[in-house]
Amino acid sequence: MLAESEINRVLTVTAHPDDVDFGAAGTVALFGDRGVEVTYLVVTDGDAGGNERELDNSGMAELRRAEQTAAAKAVGVTDVRFLGYSDGTVVPSLDLRRDIARVIRQVRPDLVITHHPDRNYQFIAPSHPDHRAVGGSALDAVYPDARNPYAFPELLTEEGLEAWTVREVWLTGGSTPDHWVDVTDAIDRKLTALQSHVSQVAHVEGFADFVKERFASWGKRAGFGEGRYAEGFQVVQTA
Ligand SMILES: [Zn+2]
Repeated sequence: MLAESEINRVLTVTAHPDDVDFGAAGTVALFGDRGVEVTYLVVTDGDAGGNERELDNSGMAELRRAEQTAAAKAVGVTDVRFLGYSDGTVVPSLDLRRDIARVIRQVRPDLVITHHPDRNYQFIAPSHPDHRAVGGSALDAVYPDARNPYAFPELLTEEGLEAWTVREVWLTGGSTPDHWVDVTDAIDRKLTALQSHVSQVAHVEGFADFVKERFASWGKRAGFGEGRYAEGFQVVQTA
């Protein structure tokens, strides 16, 4: 596994506004504390989300981009990029692989954080079809597309983007996490990030308690002890 000192740039690739905040915002905040540069790539605008809403899909897309940008700021991230795919219809595709490979070559991250591409049979919520499609395409973009100069050759010939090898990928939402990050020092910032998604969570009663209980239970599972909070990942070595 990469040592802390080997992680200087991180790219997260997630399907919807709020996914990175549920899965990894505490870890992202701690990266920021150490001076690591973090970029968010969000594949859809979350335009099919929301409850009892008054906005059409394009109004919702604009609102959710703004909410994600605010959530990023709460954990120190200012580089937030959107691919504008349509919420709820993402499939693993060559277009998506190329679009993610492009950003990998632009950002040149040591570490990519994305969705686990397999269905989690213990806990269905993280296994939204968009999540699985994005996770699978992100892994394909890491290996082989971004590192192979002959994959999507237009990225090199037309955009001047040199091949780049990502050394490690951390997957969120899987059933077999094997790396836990103690996010106790960042749990308040993670909560602020999540609560920035006003259209998604403002109507949820007891949301803060729900979040704290969820990540405290992972703190126990990780062996960090009572009153500690954790985020969990499955680590994939990719170099
Ligand atoms: Zn999602």
